[in-house]
Amino acid sequence: MASTTLELNGLNFNLTEEHMAVRDAARDFAQNELLPGVIERDSQAKFPTEQVRRMGELGFLGMMVSPDYGGGGMDTVSYVIAMEEISRVDASSSVIMSVNNSLVCWGLEMFGTEAQKQNYLTRLATGEVIGAFCLSEPEAGSDATSQHTTATDQGDHYLLNGTKNWITNGGSAAVYLVMAQTDAEKRHRGINCLIVEKDQPGFVVGKKEDKLGIRASDTHSLMFTDVKVPKENRIGDDGFGFKFAMSTLNGGRIGIAAQALGIAAGAYELALAYAQERKSFGKKIFEHQAIQFKLAEMATKIEAARLLVYKAARLKDEHKDYVQAAAMAKLFASDVAMWATTEAVQIHGGYGYVKEFHVERMMRDAKITQIYEGTSEIQKLVIARELVK
Ligand SMILES: Cc1cc2nc3c(=O)[nH]c(=O)nc-3n(C[C@H](O)[C@H](O)[C@H](O)COP(=O)(O)OP(=O)(O)OC[C@H]3O[C@@H](n4cnc5c(N)ncnc54)[C@H](O)[C@@H]3O)c2cc1C
Repeated sequence: MASTTLELNGLNFNLTEEHMAVRDAARDFAQNELLPGVIERDSQAKFPTEQVRRMGELGFLGMMVSPDYGGGGMDTVSYVIAMEEISRVDASSSVIMSVNNSLVCWGLEMFGTEAQKQNYLTRLATGEVIGAFCLSEPEAGSDATSQHTTATDQGDHYLLNGTKNWITNGGSAAVYLVMAQTDAEKRHRGINCLIVEKDQPGFVVGKKEDKLGIRASDTHSLMFTDVKVPKENRIGDDGFGFKFAMSTLNGGRIGIAAQALGIAAGAYELALAYAQERKSFGKKIFEHQAIQFKLAEMATKIEAARLLVYKAARLKDEHKDYVQAAAMAKLFASDVAMWATTEAVQIHGGYGYVKEFHVERMMRDAKITQIYEGTSEIQKLVIARELVK
């Protein structure tokens, strides 16, 4: 990257011209191509097929993947910048982007074999196909060690049986990274991650969830009955699957933290603009100190969240330990998103409660950031564990 240093919000983050170009491209895309129709896609729970295709074309689906495999070769800071911009407008599209970038592409590039990268990563990074990350099950959420899906060793292949729940991109993906138990006696050390293609016999995409928020993203359960997966589709050594899942989720949390930051920032901007237009008692509501205080507090907490998100991204880029920083960023940014979007609805009064003004959608979208890729309670466990490491 060029060494030019630019500023963001008055503070020198050592952002490069490339970072700023990513921000401008993501902002233009969000305003021109995501904003139109975002309300309808949400209310009809309509998957943003065309918008995802464009994200692929613009390089947003494999941002950190090496150009050798069709990616953008960018750093994590670029990725969080793009995630924030896209999430300001459409958190459904940004979760599709986040899963493909952080959980699927990153995991494959980091731990996959050369053949797996050639077969799968190249198509995923360009957005020719999208991927899904399948860890959660009906009885395995926060306690992800409790896998009931099995991958039985049959010599040259595994037989995969079980059900996965809550899988983002579950219906639209073509490539699935599926965690499954091979050796129950070894507990989490007996879990493997298998690459599964959608057209495999015995693989059924189950019902699409009717959700509170991020409604345009598709969340499905998946059923596997004697699905034959060749051994060469296992990622890493035998028993590496749980470590694979935890490593990818550590990085994934930075993406979700950036998503939360974007949702908060988008709601704040709408509330600030509205407060300068709407009048009550003969003056703009911004001139009521109670409203100013809300906006001042929103701006402060959003800035604090941004610092945590950038810190986690920067640590990852510098190959330093980012586990605690990522958990802190997600914990804090998701709380800020939930709180700031609720305040944005409040500032809009009755208009905030209807779809046309966007902030009610943002409030619904914000909630999931406290739940997926580790609930807020789990983030606190991660942070606490790191305190005494
Ligand atoms: C829209 C959506 C998309 C998702 N996408 C994916 C995906 O793509 N891939 C995937 O694998 N999963 C996905 N998930 C699943 C998500 O990661 C889980 O829902 C989440 O990890 C929580 O698991 P759970 O729902 O089983 O809740 P539980 O684990 O049952 O938790 C219930 C409550 O108990 C709390 N709790 C549990 N254990 C502890 C503890 N030890 N200490 C304190 N509190 C605790 C939790 O914080 C929570 O408040 C998605 C979920 C949703 C809703």
